[in-house]
Amino acid sequence: MNSLFTQNFKSMPYWHHEIDVPKTATGTLPKQADICIIGGGFTGLSVAIHLLKAGKSVVIVDAMRLGEGASGKNGGMIGPSLHKLGLEGLKNIHGEQKAYDILQEGINAIEYFPTFLKEFKIECDLNMSGRFNGVHNQKQLDEIEKKCEVFSKLKNFKYQMVAPDKVHSEIGSDHYYGGAVYELDGSIHPYKLLKGMVENIHKLGGQIFENTRADDIIKTTIGHNVYTDKGTLVAGEVVIATNGYSKQFGNSKQSYFYKRVIPLTSAMIATEEISPDLMQRFFPKNRIHGGNHRLVQYYRPSPDFKRILFGARGADFKDRADKNGQNLKKLMVKIFPEMLDIKLDFSWSGKVAYTFDHGPHLGKHDGLYYAMGYCGSGVTRSVYLAKKLSMQILGEENFQTEFHALEFQTKPFYNGKPWFMPFVIKWHSFMDGIE
Ligand SMILES: Cc1cc2nc3c(=O)[nH]c(=O)nc-3n(C[C@H](O)[C@H](O)[C@H](O)COP(=O)(O)OP(=O)(O)OC[C@H]3O[C@@H](n4cnc5c(N)ncnc54)[C@H](O)[C@@H]3O)c2cc1C
Repeated sequence: MNSLFTQNFKSMPYWHHEIDVPKTATGTLPKQADICIIGGGFTGLSVAIHLLKAGKSVVIVDAMRLGEGASGKNGGMIGPSLHKLGLEGLKNIHGEQKAYDILQEGINAIEYFPTFLKEFKIECDLNMSGRFNGVHNQKQLDEIEKKCEVFSKLKNFKYQMVAPDKVHSEIGSDHYYGGAVYELDGSIHPYKLLKGMVENIHKLGGQIFENTRADDIIKTTIGHNVYTDKGTLVAGEVVIATNGYSKQFGNSKQSYFYKRVIPLTSAMIATEEISPDLMQRFFPKNRIHGGNHRLVQYYRPSPDFKRILFGARGADFKDRADKNGQNLKKLMVKIFPEMLDIKLDFSWSGKVAYTFDHGPHLGKHDGLYYAMGYCGSGVTRSVYLAKKLSMQILGEENFQTEFHALEFQTKPFYNGKPWFMPFVIKWHSFMDGIE
């Protein structure tokens, strides 16, 4: 590798170097289960936990090793993720009340998250530090303030505006003019969350089969036959939790889901260790950070406060540690010029799932339960919507969310491969440059 990387550089998620996720089942796939879950990320694992707790037998299959999906690779940045369309966009489609109700679901999700961790005794470096969102001029500062005033109509939404003379109390950088702090945001260690979920599943008697791809699902009179590359399982119910990997491991006979999600590459880097003084100057309040770019950028200190973890859209559909490393470092140096000579210890990428209406979807289609399409903000959304989906499967009351009734759209000729994305990304990148 070139001088961008340290000698210890690894093309793998920073999270994986220090934590081992417990071993999963190695025997043969059972012949039957009450519920088979396809996909062992946060969605599939948390649905499993609730169903197991309710006394169901559950088998999870995942085509990869656990943690190789987005759940083991993300930035661990959490918050209400108030819908990409914002109030105006949602209002135009759904009317004012429904728009607010959809936005409120984001707050419901972040409020549920610590309850879930407490109930299942999961320790994952939860740090509700807030997020600083920086902007570049007075016009943008006014816009962000207006947006926050609108969001204050939501129950429990909290923010503070950051005036130009206070920026350095939020971030050791001259890159921003001002900004806002979203107080409900924070961070976790995603691999510790994954590990905690797996431990719960083992304790509750669930079985997880890695490297086991579900190829087809056929409805029968007593449930479903799930055909995998390791054998066939008869399950009463099936949950599809395949998110950004729906197409990669999908079968054309099961195209409904992958025709409705747009897999995009999100990439991240972790720097080598940085001096404590510099870290303190960069991140005086240990918050997570983002800007108002069209092409999303996000960054945070590592949980041990020794490195910067920086993420943005990947160069293309492939996992390109080298190219992504270069691009991301360039973006990081724009914010922290002192990082010009810093090297990278880790560079990695994974797939997120966008949707045509910019929001997540869950429910039941043609006898199959599903939750997916978190549009890049899936940590708390997946945990919350998995709880609601498991309530639906168990026939409990109050499972409905504002996302349930929304049409899960596709587009003519879209077949799960977003050939149009490189053009969209180039356009957004161009606009970021001139805005
Ligand atoms: C680099 C990166 C950074 C991110 N940062 C953040 C962040 O800071 N905050 C945030 O909220 N979100 C973030 N996200 C998004 C978040 O990680 C995801 O939304 C979330 O993890 C989705 O969880 P999931 O369980 O639905 O999907 P995944 O974790 O992707 O799991 C889906 C699984 O389905 C399996 N699968 C697919 N098809 C089959 C099949 N046919 N048979 C068997 N298994 C199958 C795959 O192997 C995969 O393991 C990030 C994502 C990435 C990639």
